[in-house]
Amino acid sequence: MAVLPIVLYGNPVLREKSRAVEAIDRSTKDFVADLIATLKDAEGLGLAANQVGVANRIFLVDLSPLEPSEEIRVFINPQIIETSGELEYEEGCLSFPEMFHLITRPEFVTIRATDLSGEEFEIKADGILARVILHENDHIDGKLFIDYITPMAREMISGKLKKLKAASAA
Ligand SMILES: [Zn+2]
Repeated sequence: MAVLPIVLYGNPVLREKSRAVEAIDRSTKDFVADLIATLKDAEGLGLAANQVGVANRIFLVDLSPLEPSEEIRVFINPQIIETSGELEYEEGCLSFPEMFHLITRPEFVTIRATDLSGEEFEIKADGILARVILHENDHIDGKLFIDYITPMAREMISGKLKKLKAASAA
């Protein structure tokens, strides 16, 4: 298990539409173990594969920093089945250090995915779980949370975004 470097905004891999995972083999399992180590190290709530530079359709959700009984969830080749409602909530992203924004997203989501043992599962989520699932699922389609903020808010953070871009190009 290794902690991998997290790529920052400006790295083109964050805008890539990720490829489906074809087999949950040794290398996929090793990669997911690294992804888990990376998320734990960063103390985030979620992490998508392309945030460590690998454009595969995998993401993690880990609510244990908020609720210690929570276990890490692995989503492979996820598919959003249904969303409903609307909720404004503050979001951050490991690829945008120190940036937090109020983002409006659906309040409820039903998602189907494959777990590490190759089993398909479906969950209906609300609250913070739904929020993190929707944020991470966007990542694997190359979508970022700043895509949802108003042009005015975007203008206000343009300096920070430029700095991040410059840092990720260095
Ligand atoms: Zn993110």
